[in-house]
Amino acid sequence: MSDSPVLVVGAGPAGLTAATELARAGVSVLVVDQAPTLGGAVFRQPMPGVESIAVGAPKKRWQTVMTAFNAQKGRITISTSTKFGGLDHTGTVFLSGEKTCLLRPRALVLALGARESVQPRPGWTLAGVETVGSLQIRMKIEGKPPEGRVLLAGSGPLLLALAAEMTRLGNPPVAVIEAASPFAHPLQSLCLPPGYLAEACRYLSRLWRSGVPVLTGAHVSQICVQDGALQISVDSRRGPRQFTADRVGLHDGIRSNDIGLPPCAMLPVIRVGDCREALGAQAAVADGRGQGRALAAKLLGRPEPAEDPEIGRQRAAQTRLARIYASDSLARLSDLPGDTVLCRCEGRTVDDLRALGPAPRARQLRLDGRFAMGPCQGRFCADWVARMIDPQAVSSGIGAPRWPARPIAVADILAATDQTSGDDR
Ligand SMILES: Cc1cc2nc3c(=O)[nH]c(=O)nc-3n(C[C@H](O)[C@H](O)[C@H](O)COP(=O)(O)OP(=O)(O)OC[C@H]3O[C@@H](n4cnc5c(N)ncnc54)[C@H](O)[C@@H]3O)c2cc1C
Repeated sequence: MSDSPVLVVGAGPAGLTAATELARAGVSVLVVDQAPTLGGAVFRQPMPGVESIAVGAPKKRWQTVMTAFNAQKGRITISTSTKFGGLDHTGTVFLSGEKTCLLRPRALVLALGARESVQPRPGWTLAGVETVGSLQIRMKIEGKPPEGRVLLAGSGPLLLALAAEMTRLGNPPVAVIEAASPFAHPLQSLCLPPGYLAEACRYLSRLWRSGVPVLTGAHVSQICVQDGALQISVDSRRGPRQFTADRVGLHDGIRSNDIGLPPCAMLPVIRVGDCREALGAQAAVADGRGQGRALAAKLLGRPEPAEDPEIGRQRAAQTRLARIYASDSLARLSDLPGDTVLCRCEGRTVDDLRALGPAPRARQLRLDGRFAMGPCQGRFCADWVARMIDPQAVSSGIGAPRWPARPIAVADILAATDQTSGDDR
């Protein structure tokens, strides 16, 4: 078993840093990522031939991560465009894509990052409506802002970050519609780490200079298509507003991307970075470093180091940000029209949920309602379905996690090489 590498899934800052620390301790590592390049969400790299749009601190942070990683490359194998399909109870992992195989790693590091939350609204599944994160990632890959008129809506700092970046690159958004009232909490804001405040001021001044309207305490109540464009209805403090755009980016926060990951007793499995706790890029680096060292110590029978204090600092900052960005968005779920789509995989609506009665159980939701049964395993609908049934619900899952974590083609299963033989478990 000690000949097998540790498998690190996810080549964002957390996965790359964990791999660096494991390799530095003398452990061999296989790093896989479904994307064609290393970098993850925050450090996503451009496609070949395109210049990176990264500047300033993010560019320096990426260079620091990669310098340390490259120094340990002798013990690290990388396989990009390779998807982790899941882990079964025997400790066997299924990988597909560039490396399609079954293997039993010495340990598994899940650095799968975060998933974006998008609250259902009438029209949120129309063509031209996507997540703010997907717009941002495309911009990093293509090295240019999304084309046409773009409106950004929902809640959280990512809205301002993308709006400011689009403005810097020459296509400012039509408007930013923020559900919370972040500027109404000056004292909370002053207690944020100085870097956060400076970044927010830079974003706001750029938007202000470009005349981008930033509406706070405002909600998109409907998106529809008219004359080939998207018409966006907004409830704002000053009454209803209408906007026209070619694209709408929605974003209502991020959550750990930990759906479909059942526990496994056969090998050490750890989650690092946003996959363990969505605390942002700086915490992802600190977590990857701390947990990579701790796992190496465990595998080599050495004493484990204590948690990096940076994690606590970033957790406190995120808790403060959550207070600053608190809004009444969730209350709007109960007023959604019956034909609003909740599960976009299977087109299940608010009326379909109501037809299951006042307190459907998880089994009923899945088998009768088909909620969380589509290929995304509830990554989009489960949170909202749970909250519509019980507004106090905190758990996002509807029932137990299922294997695989991601859809796998039958052709990939047939093509997989079995690299588990010779294993004595
Ligand atoms: C869409 C989005 C945009 C963001 N933008 C910013 C930003 O601009 N600035 C900022 O500070 N923070 C941003 N964040 C938060 C930031 O991404 C994180 O805090 C940081 O990148 C977390 O690092 P990580 O290594 O934990 O995960 P990530 O950087 O997200 O890396 C996770 C990696 O896992 C891979 N992966 C996931 N599932 C699989 C699978 N099944 N098989 C194989 N590979 C898989 C992904 O392709 C990805 O490369 C964003 C988050 C999201 C979701």
